[in-house]
Amino acid sequence: MAKVADRYLKIDPWKIVEEGFEPEHGRVSESIFSLGNEYMGVRGYFDEGYSGDRLVGSYFNGVFEEGQAIPSGNYKGMVTRTCFMVNTVDWLYTRITIDGETLDIAKSNVKDFTRCLDMKKGILTREFVWNTSSGKSVKISFVRFLSMTNPKLGCQRVSLEPVNFSGKVNIRIALDFSIIHESCGKNLWSCPKKGKEGNIIGILGKTSKSGHMLFSACRIHTSSPKEMQLVEDEKFIGIDFIMDLKQGMNSSFEKMVVNYAEKNPDVSVNEVWSKGMKIAGDYSSISYDIAYEKQVEYWADTWENSDIVIEGDPENQQGIRYCIFQLHQTYHGEDPSLNIGAKGLTGEAYNGNAFWDTETYCLPFYIFNNPRAARNLLEYRYKTLPKAMERAKELDCEGAFYPIATLDGSETCALWQHASLQLQASTAVAYGIWHYGKLLKDKEFLYSKGIEILIQISRMLASRGQWGQRTGKFGFFAVMGPDEFQMMVNNNCYTNIMGKKTFEYTLKVINEMKINAPGQLSGISEKLGLKSGELERWRQMAENMFIPFDNATGIYEQHDGFFNLPHIDIHSIPVTDFPLYHSWSYDRIYRNDMIKQPDVLMFMFLYNQEFSPETKKINYMYYEPRCIHESSLSPSIHSILATELGGKREAYEFFKFSTRLDLDNYNRNTAEGLHLTSIAAAWMNIVYGFGGMRSDGEILAFNPSLPDQWNEFSFKLVYHDSVLNVKIDNESAEFKILKGNNQTVRIYGKGYKIDEKGIAIRIPEA
Ligand code: BGC
Repeated sequence: MAKVADRYLKIDPWKIVEEGFEPEHGRVSESIFSLGNEYMGVRGYFDEGYSGDRLVGSYFNGVFEEGQAIPSGNYKGMVTRTCFMVNTVDWLYTRITIDGETLDIAKSNVKDFTRCLDMKKGILTREFVWNTSSGKSVKISFVRFLSMTNPKLGCQRVSLEPVNFSGKVNIRIALDFSIIHESCGKNLWSCPKKGKEGNIIGILGKTSKSGHMLFSACRIHTSSPKEMQLVEDEKFIGIDFIMDLKQGMNSSFEKMVVNYAEKNPDVSVNEVWSKGMKIAGDYSSISYDIAYEKQVEYWADTWENSDIVIEGDPENQQGIRYCIFQLHQTYHGEDPSLNIGAKGLTGEAYNGNAFWDTETYCLPFYIFNNPRAARNLLEYRYKTLPKAMERAKELDCEGAFYPIATLDGSETCALWQHASLQLQASTAVAYGIWHYGKLLKDKEFLYSKGIEILIQISRMLASRGQWGQRTGKFGFFAVMGPDEFQMMVNNNCYTNIMGKKTFEYTLKVINEMKINAPGQLSGISEKLGLKSGELERWRQMAENMFIPFDNATGIYEQHDGFFNLPHIDIHSIPVTDFPLYHSWSYDRIYRNDMIKQPDVLMFMFLYNQEFSPETKKINYMYYEPRCIHESSLSPSIHSILATELGGKREAYEFFKFSTRLDLDNYNRNTAEGLHLTSIAAAWMNIVYGFGGMRSDGEILAFNPSLPDQWNEFSFKLVYHDSVLNVKIDNESAEFKILKGNNQTVRIYGKGYKIDEKGIAIRIPEA
């Protein structure tokens, strides 16, 4: 893989530190220093304004505007309405003026710039010294955090310490709705209401098409405010005030912001305003210091169960903590109507949409770190089941067809070949229910909501699939699998296997319910009009699913005809051609056996223990050299399989791009936002890769190995209400229960009961 690190941040186990500001890294840093708390997210842009290249990005999970998809004529099933997460209010807006000069790092004389994200505490700090053209020198620091315990609360503290003068400084703080949504090149808000109530200023923005509303309010605390003055503009409300600074003394002000999003366009502006003001009033009792303390406590608790420690590799130590931090920030199960966008809440790329990535790449992290969040991700799919059923109808299918890209459950992907041909979001939901159910044994969810989703997905698959004329077998025709370099193929092996698994699991749960929950089953059957003939058909379809497989070589064929595609040596492609979407004509990408991301290897990862080591090896050897990893989701899966198959060096080579994908900007597109779902793959890369964990069998299994580059590593797993610690050095793998009950797991093929005393197993010779 032609990927090279662009490293400019300092290595530190718990902090991300930037020393000195280089404008060419401005946008990358904005992404890297993004904060989020599931409800909202804000890029690491400069509070005080910046006239250089920047993306002032402030996003709210699920708050979107609608756009028109590219006109698609009258073709049925093509998406006509798209949605995109809309850039909202700059609630950090601050301007600092001394002697008529307003601070702007692009123009001002600034030195000793540092920016630091403290991942242990969830706090972002930026400090520097500003030397004004009038000869004054002042130390300035900005601290911000998004409360993880009060999701609507954002906190900012600005401190100023004059070095060589005492005197006045003019401050403007504001809530600014006039910021530009960059990919549309315009502002998308109107502000029907704004004003001051007591010591709270507020403004309400509304989007024109979706009718989503966002109320933003703040109050200011400062020890020496003078001449507070309200300033207003069409989409802007703020306060001007003066601070009297004393040489060598630190003076600060705090801005406590309440943001409240209302996505129901039928609620009136006045209602949203009153509710927002009420929340802002209620939050008045929360001081900056209290909020800060709670934030630190929240992260201390989170790290206690989620940390991964790597000894001997400070770069990946920092990298994996960054991944874990960003995952918790983006989603921690507060609200089941929210999901995880491929870029989280850190930029406009991918429009804030959630993909099959959620169940395939992110869910394992939550299952083993935050089971409530795992359940709520599945609840999201239940809540959006009606939309998936509407989508199925649009595509002439029965049941539920889950969208490939979504914000509110409806399909937003305007590229028809993805939106109409990729069944993998639906099968990923079924897989997620299976995986979650297997590990968390949550029958309450499974027998009430999970089964409904499974039945509707099975219905869709039964109506979307067809019987091949020549083979007489069932399969899916005109589909696109995970390898998006094959646009419309028949019998994509991944899709067929996932379809088969979905049918089988749905039938299994129904049979289980016949015994364990007959009442619930008859309720569901009645509600959904389930017929026994349907079940029999699914059984036949599963049994007769066509699985393209070459007996002579033991290789699964990615789809009908894949083996006959012209071969291309991917190493012969000039590095400058990547990413290929930009430099090759669209159709050219589809005309050979080059793969974007794992497809056959993907199902070998998901249902790993069902394939023999030989089969995995043969298929890995065939498909790996054909894969160009154009998706950042790809290398980690290869790394996990390479570790399993004894390719230690190769596994580490792939792993190198995972934990530091964004910190080192390997794909050169971190400026657009973080690769949130690939960050989840980095967690899997360590736990499933080097930790050798497998969670697709009856009990958890481990085949740990230590990369040569490390001295030791350990990770924690929340498993059946217990916390299991796994520590691996170059001699042994130690398993210990830190909290909760004893657990049975398989280590190197043998079952062991793990208790709080722990057990150390020697690592077998390679
Ligand atoms: C990948 C998809 C993925 C999407 C969002 C694409 O580049 O091919 O598999 O769902 O990115 O991460």
